[in-house]
Amino acid sequence: MSDQDPVIVVGAGIAGTAAARALQRAGHSVTLLDSAEPGRATSYGNAGFLSLDSLIPLARPATLKKVPQMLMDRDGPLTLHPPSLPWLLPWMARFARASLSPAEVQKGTDALKALMLEADVAWKAEIQASGLGELFQTRGALYVYESEAAFLGTDEMRGLQMNKGTEFEVVSGDRARELAPGLSPHIVRGIHYPNGTHTINPYRVVATLAERFAADGGTILRGRVRGFGREGANGGNRVTSVQITDQTLPAKAVVIAAGRASGELTRLLGFNAPLVAERGYHVMVAPDNVRFDLPVSPPERGLFFTPMEEGLRIAGTVELAAPHQPPSWHRADLLLKHLKAIFPGVGGAEQSRWIGERPTLPDYRPAIGRAPRLANVYCSYGHQHLGLTLATASGRLIARQMEGEALASALAGADPGRFG
Ligand SMILES: Cc1cc2nc3c(=O)[nH]c(=O)nc-3n(C[C@H](O)[C@H](O)[C@H](O)COP(=O)(O)OP(=O)(O)OC[C@H]3O[C@@H](n4cnc5c(N)ncnc54)[C@H](O)[C@@H]3O)c2cc1C
Repeated sequence: MSDQDPVIVVGAGIAGTAAARALQRAGHSVTLLDSAEPGRATSYGNAGFLSLDSLIPLARPATLKKVPQMLMDRDGPLTLHPPSLPWLLPWMARFARASLSPAEVQKGTDALKALMLEADVAWKAEIQASGLGELFQTRGALYVYESEAAFLGTDEMRGLQMNKGTEFEVVSGDRARELAPGLSPHIVRGIHYPNGTHTINPYRVVATLAERFAADGGTILRGRVRGFGREGANGGNRVTSVQITDQTLPAKAVVIAAGRASGELTRLLGFNAPLVAERGYHVMVAPDNVRFDLPVSPPERGLFFTPMEEGLRIAGTVELAAPHQPPSWHRADLLLKHLKAIFPGVGGAEQSRWIGERPTLPDYRPAIGRAPRLANVYCSYGHQHLGLTLATASGRLIARQMEGEALASALAGADPGRFG
């Protein structure tokens, strides 16, 4: 290993490509390494929303309380893949512990607030720097509620958003129907975020970042990481190379950004990332009769309706599963039922369906920054529902840390070393 060797970023999803761009701008020679084409895994098919006002971690008492009821309903917003249950139990126990600990919830809230402020700045800068303007639209966003009780459950979130200075307006059902024509008459309330931003094609965001990275001198390499070389015979605290199937690549530093598979790599490096696949689905339908141009979410159903360049995308819900399990396509069928319930008469024939694996740690906080006990390994994984939103911020933070800057204390909750 020498200072001339590149920083190797493992994983070319949104987390890895955004980190590669930030490191490149900081003056490093960078190799972006993936076993597949950039952007073809989970970053391909998300709902496309920059969720900059998600300020409370999902691991909290209110979510935990709803879990048993949600799990009884196979068609509900949260389910689990039954054969995966034994594999999931330790993760679920950790999730329960994190949710019930006020100190842990606070750490998550502090980290999210700091990350969201950084993300706002980071996306504006990246959109400009990488010429992504045509892929993003600021048309607002609308959350819709089917009962007053569901709306009242948003008190805590709205309080935090008010403190942060988020612009939003609570609207009546009728006003919600004006903002999103076609919305069902049974919607009683909405929250309108006039500054909400979404992308019309999350895959093209990653692909364009990767193209710009290569055009600016970055190297994109195809290969599955199998191991790491360390300094010294007994494995020092510096990684000197990355092994792929038929090659050993010298590395000045390494960034682990391999989404759900990151835990397999951290194990090789001697630290833990207890990630599950929080599977979500999308269905693309022909944009028949779509007269709204902003993302609309009924949060109680755990999904978004996002107008995209190739049609209307219905994306979301959660199915906890062990890795490498076959998809449960009935979850995609359910998305079409949700469309009929919330937007009767909107959307035409199904064009495609997709499954993705959100990389989720049990405390619903990402892992960002230097790895424990290793001098030159950095992490950007575990972004769960917020990977698109937080990718550019995570990349910039890693680049700054590599330059010797300490991360803000509010980000302690995202320390990759917290699982040992
Ligand atoms: C239905 C759904 C809706 C969503 N909506 C939103 C949204 O609106 N807003 C938002 O912010 N987020 C959203 N998300 C979350 C977001 O999509 C994810 O958090 C994000 O895509 C994760 O990106 P990633 O780069 O970490 O992982 P990935 O995109 O999965 O990329 C990981 C990459 O690592 C590579 N890799 C893995 N192992 C190895 C190895 N050993 N060697 C080499 N390469 C390897 C893989 O091939 C892959 O390309 C949604 C997710 C889903 C499923």
